[in-house]
Amino acid sequence: MELIIDDLSKTYSNGVKALQNISLEIPQGMFGLLGPNGAGKSTLMRTIATLQEADKGTISLGDLNVLKQKKKVMQVLGYLPQQFGLYPKIPAMVLLNHLAVLKGITNGSERKEVVASLLHKTNLYDVRKQNLGGYSGGMKQRFGIAQALLNNPKLLIVDEPTAGLDPVEKNRFYNLLCEIGENTVVILSTHIVEDVKELCTNMAVINQGQVLLKGNPLKIIEDLEGKVYQKTIHKDDLEGYKLEYKVISEKLFLGKPVIQIISDSDPGDGFSSVKTDLEDVYLSQIYSANNNLKSIS
Ligand code: ADP
Repeated sequence: MELIIDDLSKTYSNGVKALQNISLEIPQGMFGLLGPNGAGKSTLMRTIATLQEADKGTISLGDLNVLKQKKKVMQVLGYLPQQFGLYPKIPAMVLLNHLAVLKGITNGSERKEVVASLLHKTNLYDVRKQNLGGYSGGMKQRFGIAQALLNNPKLLIVDEPTAGLDPVEKNRFYNLLCEIGENTVVILSTHIVEDVKELCTNMAVINQGQVLLKGNPLKIIEDLEGKVYQKTIHKDDLEGYKLEYKVISEKLFLGKPVIQIISDSDPGDGFSSVKTDLEDVYLSQIYSANNNLKSIS
């Protein structure tokens, strides 16, 4: 099963062009949708999840016309939105059981089995009787995944799922997503480059409603290999460097500003070559887009 998005556009009534001619082919497995805040990720996720309309374009999932056959899409869709409301005073197992009824699993013994199996899968079985209000951030997110998997979806959408999770919880959450991605199309929307690098076999970078780049993360890194340079500079010289070079990032290292630039050839001038990271690719694309340049790579 493959999700195909073709020429999708959406302009909000306030004039914001949230999606501009988006076309993506998303195969089974983990797909990372990367972009800064306001890029249009949630708008795209909500449109795929049939929760809002597009102005133009089509989306198909296998044989389904997503924008027209909404009820059928709902049957094969799992969605974990950015804001996921829970009832704090209800035990996880009770709520999951209730949600299973709402999702149409009416047979009692079947439901019991599905609920137990999802609680095991998300590693929440031992804490199934605890109220959700006492769950940690990671446990809540895993519960969010459990509810999203109730109908055994073919397409799972998770919007910015790792915000606020500590590294251990994040890792556990990643592992769970990877497992699901073995037989499901999983779309992970995030502004965290690490999430995509570690998890996804395919990705796209979007900014201001447009696709800047798409493909396999490792291949994308390879294309920029050898073009990233860095240098420790004096704070006062930063603006000068920005005028002269394609500065994609500035950070402090041991209290001193370090800039990274993109250059097709060795710039000399005290710069040294550094290993390309997905973060560099991402930043360079955002840099190009914001400076109305064509792709640097
Ligand atoms: P992201 O999820 O990448 O942060 P969004 O899809 O939430 O991006 O937003 C894309 C753009 O659309 C932003 O400029 C945002 O302010 C705007 N936007 C989002 N929702 C609405 C809305 N309901 N009405 C008007 N503008 C909106």
